[in-house]
Amino acid sequence: MSQDASEEVRSEGDLRNTGMSLKHDREWDYELDRIVEAIEERGAEKVGLQFPEGLKRRGPAVADDLRELTDGVTFLLSGQPCYGACDLDTYLMRRTDVFVHFGHSPMKESDKIIYVPLFSNVDPFPIMEESMAELPDPEAEEYADEEPAVGLVTTAQHMNLFGDMVDWLEERGFDVRTRRGDDRLTHEGQVLGCNYASADIDAEHVLYVGGGKFHPLGLAMEHPDKKVTIADPVNNVVTVADTEQFMKQRYASVHKAMDAETWGVVFCTKIGQGRWDVAEEIVENNENAYLITMDEVTPDRLRNFGFDAFVNTGCPRITTDDGPQFHKPMLTPGEYEIAVGNKPLEDLEFDTFHGTW
Ligand code: SF4
Repeated sequence: MSQDASEEVRSEGDLRNTGMSLKHDREWDYELDRIVEAIEERGAEKVGLQFPEGLKRRGPAVADDLRELTDGVTFLLSGQPCYGACDLDTYLMRRTDVFVHFGHSPMKESDKIIYVPLFSNVDPFPIMEESMAELPDPEAEEYADEEPAVGLVTTAQHMNLFGDMVDWLEERGFDVRTRRGDDRLTHEGQVLGCNYASADIDAEHVLYVGGGKFHPLGLAMEHPDKKVTIADPVNNVVTVADTEQFMKQRYASVHKAMDAETWGVVFCTKIGQGRWDVAEEIVENNENAYLITMDEVTPDRLRNFGFDAFVNTGCPRITTDDGPQFHKPMLTPGEYEIAVGNKPLEDLEFDTFHGTW
């Protein structure tokens, strides 16, 4: 690569706009400049690339482009399923000099890992404008002396615009309240499917900017005292989180599991999804509970175990999103306590995950 081209890559980051001849089109900024810089700095010979499921098909093209920009470096693609920064391919990581994890914010910093968050290029402001109808009206008489408080949260994909979102709401007369959650979260205002600590704010209204149903649902379950408005810039819709359907589904699973005589307790071996203490406590206190270790937790993998019910101590989404696909009831650790009679049904709550590893 010529010096000019190299400078261009480094200053632009996104190769779409550099005029360089690339083998494939880009929709995301893969931050190739930052990766190349790290490779050169560390004199790396082997580099691992890990993509989330939705972007795996881009992997070979990104590897091609990195090959063009480097010399004598071998790029290895991770084929492990990947759903979060909790889900690093540790096997590949150990065997490479630099490991690039695309699509998520860092859960835990390490010298070897480069996290490339792949920010969304969707404009969130039109849908935020529409979401105003669900937020308190700053012009209303009751807010004559005090601006209405609104909490703001988003996902890693929109984090690059978080500051602009805060400004945008403040310009419209809101007292915007934000906080950084716990150490599982990198940024102020960021939520994960398993962690909503950044919404622990003193405001009755929370505006969630992002896609998907799982995050706002978890948010509303974790903070039942708040109205959670969802401004989804990807699907271009505004909704208010409603937990009723979800609660019914969870109650039904707990009820089904109440008759279970044998339990499979799943311990997930993915680096950021292990809750060993939780799993161990269950099997220590129930002689009919058996600990099962596995990385990817799928209905197929559990089908051959003849248990009456399962408890999942890994990613909470496995239980709450995929739960109905398992052949036997799949409960969260909290739901298990209810099913075996250690806690009352009213204690049912959303399963969250704190800390890293
Ligand atoms: S454990 Fe949390 S961060 Fe990891 S995939 Fe599940 S919801 Fe996402």
